[in-house]
Amino acid sequence: MKAMVDKDTCIGCELCTSVCPGVFSMGEDGKSEAITSDVPADMHSDARDAAEQCPVGAISIEE
Ligand code: SF4
Repeated sequence: MKAMVDKDTCIGCELCTSVCPGVFSMGEDGKSEAITSDVPADMHSDARDAAEQCPVGAISIEE
């Protein structure tokens, strides 16, 4: 699984970094970014939750 953040869309609410801190982290630009290019299996569920809960739909998941 791969997770990507569209920084142009992200509003920096930090929700994804709370829901799935193993994958998402806030960058110096105040926007979230995926800190791992290949999401470990035990984080797939949390990564999907983060993508579903992002208020602006900035996270895309590639299974
Ligand atoms: S939940 Fe969405 S808007 Fe909020 S920091 Fe993460 S990617 Fe950005």
